[in-house]
Amino acid sequence: MSENYDVIVIGAGPAGYVAAIRAAQLGLKTACIDDFVGKDGKPALGGTCLNVGCIPSKALLDSSKQFHNLTHSFAVHGISAANPSIDVNTMVGRKDKIVKQFTGGITLLFKANKVTPYAGYATLKANRAVSVKGLDGTVTELTATNVIIATGSVPIELPFAKFDNKYIVDNAGALDFTSVPKRLGVIGAGVIGLELGSVWKRLGAEVTILEALPDFLAAADQDVAKAAAREFKKQGLDIRLGAKLSKADIKGEEVHLTYTDAKGEQSLVVDKLLVAVGRRAHTRGFLAEGTGVNVDERGRIAVDEHCYTGVEGVWAIGDCVRGPMLAHKGSEEGIAVAELIAGKPGHVNLDTVPWVIYTEPEIAWVGKTEEQLKAEGVPYKTGSFPFAAIGRAVAMNETAGLVKVIAHAETDRLLGVHMVGACVSEMVHEAVVAMEFHGSAEDLARICHAHPTLSEAVHEAALAVDKRAIHKT
Ligand code: FAD
Repeated sequence: MSENYDVIVIGAGPAGYVAAIRAAQLGLKTACIDDFVGKDGKPALGGTCLNVGCIPSKALLDSSKQFHNLTHSFAVHGISAANPSIDVNTMVGRKDKIVKQFTGGITLLFKANKVTPYAGYATLKANRAVSVKGLDGTVTELTATNVIIATGSVPIELPFAKFDNKYIVDNAGALDFTSVPKRLGVIGAGVIGLELGSVWKRLGAEVTILEALPDFLAAADQDVAKAAAREFKKQGLDIRLGAKLSKADIKGEEVHLTYTDAKGEQSLVVDKLLVAVGRRAHTRGFLAEGTGVNVDERGRIAVDEHCYTGVEGVWAIGDCVRGPMLAHKGSEEGIAVAELIAGKPGHVNLDTVPWVIYTEPEIAWVGKTEEQLKAEGVPYKTGSFPFAAIGRAVAMNETAGLVKVIAHAETDRLLGVHMVGACVSEMVHEAVVAMEFHGSAEDLARICHAHPTLSEAVHEAALAVDKRAIHKT
């Protein structure tokens, strides 16, 4: 006899584990299956985000920022240290401890909420039967009234630059270098390439980023992207746009790259190569014949606006479905689907999902870019304000960047808020709340902001929409 559950979640990343906890909180008998194995060879809950994504990358970004401040920024405060050095193994060890703390924390949360974990690979069969091949090879058969697919995503591999995870690495490899590479090549100037490129640049690597697209950060508002590009250039990140990689050969201890740009064929030699050209939905192989679940043209599980697959009792959330590949988007979908299963009105507003890039300066936004609005023919007005004119930013010696507010030209409704600067990963939420409540630029402009804070840039940018910023010359 197979064990029956109200809800089986396949995948324990931020989409799946959150869905499982919420379903259990709502009184549903819940199991969660995950096949991820940590560096210690033991099952590790939390998926990409906790093991090899959001959390470990932020741990290394923080360590490398401290080192960079010591070597580059503290002198202006009158602080200096003789011969500063970085011990990469201690830094990576700290990152591993943080990962373990959080993946272990999910085990405790599952226990506290009575979610049954299964460590192994799940295959979904017809009629919501699920077969789990345990890490020791034993097979367990389960059934459920509802199945939530949360199988996440995996890095895209280039056929001419295959991962060997020694010289040509993916995100997991770039989080575990044992020393600072002298020359690091990065393919892709997206979020992962910029964040991990920044980590190793701050520690002393020569970092060259090759980006096939002609525009830098095409997904971001271009005023913000340009301001960020200026800062990255100052930091010595060598970002080459319109550069298409065609070959990566490992020769001895080096990787020899061939790429083409506007000037023709170019070559570059690096010691390590990080390929960060995007991620694809992890949906191959686990769907048995006859489930009725469809995948779309990009290999993602096809779902409607409620994350429903159209097959009775089968849902899908997170990176394996449409929408931004972001941890918090997956978690929101997890909560919404658990609530829908329990007969409650769960919902996710994809229009107000915030985006953050944790570089220095940080980049954050919510809503539409000016370029998108132009293309859609929506009438808009903008206001922007630089951090250089914000007292707190000057006091912190963090004057790079700006805030830009975009509102509808006729209704004043907020359409997008874009930021590049210190701490904007935290500041963006003011804009998210305002947009979620259908606020206007005038609403933001009329909210009293504490002085002196970085958030005053949001206030001033909102005032600037109506050309009445106070501290603008
Ligand atoms: P995943 O986290 O990928 O989890 C899916 C889980 O399901 C995995 O453990 C997988 O092994 C398991 N699984 C798959 N198939 C099966 C199967 N058949 N049986 C059993 N288990 C299975 N996002 C942010 O929002 N903020 C960030 O700062 C951020 N930083 C990132 C940095 C890096 C370097 C990377 C790579 C990603 C980052 N992301 C970030 C993206 C974020 O990690 C993903 O959006 C998020 O992890 C997706 O969550 P998920 O639950 O959908 O899938």
